[in-house]
Amino acid sequence: MVLGVPERGVWGIFRAAAERAPVAFWLPVALIVVGIVVLKRTLRPLVPIEQQLERLATRLTVSPADLEPVRLPAPAAVGWNRLVEALRHGGQPEERESRLAQALEGYRQKKSDQVLNSLLDGVAVTDGQGRITFANKALLGLLGRRPGEDSVCGQTMFDCLGLAPGGQAVQPLKDPSLEGRPVIVEYQRGGQIEDGVLRIVRTPLAAEPGQSARGHVWCVRDVTQQKLADQMREQFVNAATHELRTPLANIKAYSETLALGDMVDVEQQKAFCNTIDEEVTRLANFVDDLLHLSRMQVGSTCLNRQTTDMERLFREVVGKVSQQMKQQQITFEVELPGKLPELLVDKEKFTVAVVNLLGNAAKYTPEGGRIRLGVELREGDETLQIDVEDTGIGIAPQELPKIFDRFFRSTDPRVGRTSGSGLGLALTQEIVRLHGGKVTVESELNKGSRFTILLPTRTEGATCSGV
Ligand code: ADP
Repeated sequence: MVLGVPERGVWGIFRAAAERAPVAFWLPVALIVVGIVVLKRTLRPLVPIEQQLERLATRLTVSPADLEPVRLPAPAAVGWNRLVEALRHGGQPEERESRLAQALEGYRQKKSDQVLNSLLDGVAVTDGQGRITFANKALLGLLGRRPGEDSVCGQTMFDCLGLAPGGQAVQPLKDPSLEGRPVIVEYQRGGQIEDGVLRIVRTPLAAEPGQSARGHVWCVRDVTQQKLADQMREQFVNAATHELRTPLANIKAYSETLALGDMVDVEQQKAFCNTIDEEVTRLANFVDDLLHLSRMQVGSTCLNRQTTDMERLFREVVGKVSQQMKQQQITFEVELPGKLPELLVDKEKFTVAVVNLLGNAAKYTPEGGRIRLGVELREGDETLQIDVEDTGIGIAPQELPKIFDRFFRSTDPRVGRTSGSGLGLALTQEIVRLHGGKVTVESELNKGSRFTILLPTRTEGATCSGV
């Protein structure tokens, strides 16, 4: 009989419960312990975050530098760290704005560099001391420098362009009183136009009113071709005026004398009529040459090729010029091969080409000289070589490269004394080119010249002018 049961207390109750139902007791206990551990692990990263937030709560301004990343492998820490990173990267609003402004400025600079580099004119910018701070690709090209490799920055435009500081043409660029105004000069790089002509425009960079220029923008254009064209036009006008005026004056004088009738006898009348006829022929030839030339310029000169007996063609050519040779007491030698093939050529134009060469030989060979027309088949009958050789005044070496240019006439006074428009050789060259051939020249001053036409015997080459 149990009279009294000792009191167990809480611990006793636990033990009794653990003994009677161990699973039912220990399972909830184990779950509570595991829960506490998991909770602690989850909340651990929040502690430093919370501490930082508490610190910030008392500050007036928040700077990204006040925030520290949390080095723990928890999603909350990862999120916090990204926040800190974003704030640090983004920086302060003013910082962001200045960075944006810098980026915009860089973009604008790049764009304007691109635009300036795409210009065909050379452009440079110089500072207050006249030193180059920018030069576009076209300017480097004009100076024969490679973009990106040969920098001209820091040099002056005078050094760069090789402008002789003492030269008359560049004086306006040296004049301090013109620093604040646009200046345009044309500078010839050598003794001749062919050496190059530059048009230089210098404009002051916008400065505050009353202040001196902060620098200049330079625009440099190569106007050599334009100058050469101007020179040619001038030469043409001179030649044309001379070519037209002389025969017209002669025709007028002789026809006026003839009109007097009784004053001149029959013999004289015949002589005058012959002179008028010659002058008219000269005028007609000149106009023909001009017509051919203008056709070539618009690209409408086409060949009318026909099967041509070349031997007959050369005989006709000889017939056309031998009278002139005789008059000048020039020994004219003709060497034709025994048999010449029939070729597909524009008979009329090809005759003009050969007659031009022979006519020049006669024109530029003094009395008593010698001219030779030699024709032969070369390279296994593939090429017909036509040589026109003379013992005349010859051509100076520096003029040789120009003699096929339109309107070119030598500066030799002996050439100036003869009439001519400077169109003959240009026409000859064009006609031969249309036939697929070429004309070359060798000459020695005061000894004589040799012009050679090389004509392919097979039909090839352009048939219409592309000039
Ligand atoms: P033009 O004879 O009417 O002046 P061309 O075009 O036929 O024009 O010739 C151009 C220039 O070439 C001549 O002005 C002359 O200076 C030079 N030339 C041409 N042929 C000869 C030659 N056989 N001997 C010397 N100079 C020549």
